[in-house]
Amino acid sequence: MNYTVQHIAEITNAQIIGDGNLLIKNIAYDSRIIYSIKNTAFIAINTHKNSGEKFIESAMDRGIKVIISEHHYPEFENITWIIVENSVAFLQKLAKYHFENSHLQSIGITGSNGKTILKEWLYQCLWNEFPTVKSPKSFNSQIGLPLSLLQINDSHQLGIFEVGISKPHEMEKLENIFHPQIGLLTHIGTAHAANFSSEEELIDEKIRLFKNSEVIIYNGDNDLVDQKIKNSYSDKKLIAYGFKKENQVFIKSNISKDENIIVEYFGEEISFPAHQRDEATLTNAMALITVLKELNIENKKIVEKINLLKAVEMRLEAIEGNKGNIVINDSFNLDLDSLKTALQFLNEYNKAKKSLVLTDIVGVSTNAKELYEEVAELVNDQNFDSVFLIGNEISKFSELFKAKTYTFIDTKELIESKHLTEIENQIILLKGARKFEIEKLKDILELRKHDTVLEVNLNAILHNINYHKSLLKPGTKMMAMVKANAYGLGSFEVSEFLQHHHIDYLGVAYADEGVELRKKGITTPIIVMNPEQHSYQTIIEYNLEPEIYSFRVLELFYEAVQKSGYDKKYPIHIKLETGMHRLGFKDFELDQLSETLSHKNVKVQSMFSHLSSSDMPEEKEFTLKQLEVFEKNSSYLIEKLGYTSIRHILNSAGITSYKDHQHDMVRIGIGMLGESADPEIQKQLRSVVSFKTVISQISTVENGESVGYSRRYKTDHPTRIATIPVGYADGIPRLIGNQVGNVGVNKTLAPIVGNICMDMMMINVDHIPNVKEGDTVTVFNAHPSLKEFAGYCKTITYEVLTSISPRVKRIYIKD
Ligand SMILES: *Cc1c(COP(=O)(O)O)cnc(C)c1O
Repeated sequence: MNYTVQHIAEITNAQIIGDGNLLIKNIAYDSRIIYSIKNTAFIAINTHKNSGEKFIESAMDRGIKVIISEHHYPEFENITWIIVENSVAFLQKLAKYHFENSHLQSIGITGSNGKTILKEWLYQCLWNEFPTVKSPKSFNSQIGLPLSLLQINDSHQLGIFEVGISKPHEMEKLENIFHPQIGLLTHIGTAHAANFSSEEELIDEKIRLFKNSEVIIYNGDNDLVDQKIKNSYSDKKLIAYGFKKENQVFIKSNISKDENIIVEYFGEEISFPAHQRDEATLTNAMALITVLKELNIENKKIVEKINLLKAVEMRLEAIEGNKGNIVINDSFNLDLDSLKTALQFLNEYNKAKKSLVLTDIVGVSTNAKELYEEVAELVNDQNFDSVFLIGNEISKFSELFKAKTYTFIDTKELIESKHLTEIENQIILLKGARKFEIEKLKDILELRKHDTVLEVNLNAILHNINYHKSLLKPGTKMMAMVKANAYGLGSFEVSEFLQHHHIDYLGVAYADEGVELRKKGITTPIIVMNPEQHSYQTIIEYNLEPEIYSFRVLELFYEAVQKSGYDKKYPIHIKLETGMHRLGFKDFELDQLSETLSHKNVKVQSMFSHLSSSDMPEEKEFTLKQLEVFEKNSSYLIEKLGYTSIRHILNSAGITSYKDHQHDMVRIGIGMLGESADPEIQKQLRSVVSFKTVISQISTVENGESVGYSRRYKTDHPTRIATIPVGYADGIPRLIGNQVGNVGVNKTLAPIVGNICMDMMMINVDHIPNVKEGDTVTVFNAHPSLKEFAGYCKTITYEVLTSISPRVKRIYIKD
């Protein structure tokens, strides 16, 4: 975009305070992610959950001179204000104007699943055919879609945008802003159905996007979808794809047998080799082909493009590097958008020093000078320590980069230079076009190569937190329980991510856990649930807040506060006993408690209790009793103290089942990791953890031979047995050997045979075709799921996670 402040105000009916002639090219909505200051306005977006106005000051600190806000803050000087009635409505109005005045061919993708994958695939196939703009990440909401549309500029010929809704009537608003020529409807699932009374209502809502489309491409396997589209849009060009032969586009070959996948497109055959054959991938491939055909791409080219897709890994991985480095590997593709995304990802880590490896941007038709000037500007804003440029093109522009800059012809030359091995304690971003194969650098920089990893998807945590938040009132605070190394996932990495996303409180079990977080730079308030006597000084020194559950702890802790010379009211958290019978003050102690507290220089920051059975519907009566006791006792204590304090009792299952009792804060734990005992809730959550390894060896064990220690498994026919490098020392309970437990290989369960060894175990893969040494094995959380795995172990998911040995490497991804 490219508008003056004056023009923006005219388009949106806003009021200007300041200079109307300033030129705006970007709108930043997150004060932490401002790529360039020149020509950028910051918008303070107010939603029912959050006010962006809190961040105006930090945007100004970054150097922003134009602020779009619902309120004017005259105390901030030298700012041009665009004052709007409603920040979200403003964005939508501006985006509508901008879209309608662009002359793009547009594709709008909606549906329950597959939107982002399809968008990325289409983009990869089309960006070198036409200058293309797309939604970043999964920006598809009432706010995300307008922000995506505002990225359109004069050079773009094609726009690919995702459109997502979660409530009735939302699509109407979005269609008013964005009316794609080609409408694409992916799979309709139950993922967002929560706010809809029926599948029918959901479909009706989604297909409103196509009101003004010329062509609608949709998954016709769902009869209701097929019927509804045909009824509503009989005047448009309709193309159905799917597995059913009634669709115009379907798969003709036998997917489990034939080498190539053959898609029939209106009687024409398109054949390609498939790397993955699961239903979702093949359905997406049909949608992709249909859109490419609609854009007149020749069959031969389509097949070439599909071959290049490989399994799209749209994710940035963060890997623990050697010498204290963190390596962010994003070596899949390179364009300006993905560079911005990667730079933004860097900002989420607080390492003082950063280095960048960046290659030529290939296949873009923009003028090279303009392109690399923009690249350099983005990079310079990040204050890298060193920048390593690979490729002849980008090297020509090395003087544009402000950091210590080195140039190389290819990746090999950089490796041979040994520069990388000198980097210590930095965050290193690897960002390159695929042909440069800079993933090879990752192998050099990585701490150790591990076949066995616990993969933690941070964005899935965010999704799960947001899901739980959506059940709560807007002002309710949230504490994330990161005790026990964040349920085994890595307390610093999880906490840092949560802090970045403004979690209100963190909860740890012991002072040491809190100290580690503080030392690594976590500033969010931290409550220590189990303050041990020897740790009181440490608690005070590191600004941690103790749970106080008895008079003994209160007295001893207060002694420590006095000794430390702390002279303000120390924040403490009072635990009330309401039926769990673990820790806490009982009702008959409350008078004495308030009396004791009144003589002490402490502040009851919160009072809380814990539910023993919130995940058990059969204990509802008991839980309601606990809630009632809490309500009564906490009210009594507040009255006695003479001031209010934050109250909280709900854990994850409490949030989903007893939200009327949310008080001022809730404490989320297992729910943020994507686990719920309630199958309906489970469907709304995203899986966060997966424990993976690879096959070390496969052997055919002859009939009658035995496998493993103590000969506990004997074959009754020649059997293919695979050995995998995880054992009881990694946290796999020995009792799930001997065919009690299974692991997943190629989406099929493989039973664990024989006794589990310390570092290894054997699995039966006789029934699984095409398994090879080096193939991935899922210990959990897909097939089997974490719940199923916990079932083999006869325990709960919590224990499985916290039992995984520290030697299993944790890696953190964001998809
Ligand atoms: C661990 C813990 C929680 C979180 O429980 P989940 O069931 O994992 O949500 C909440 N409150 C307290 C006091 C806890 O110790």
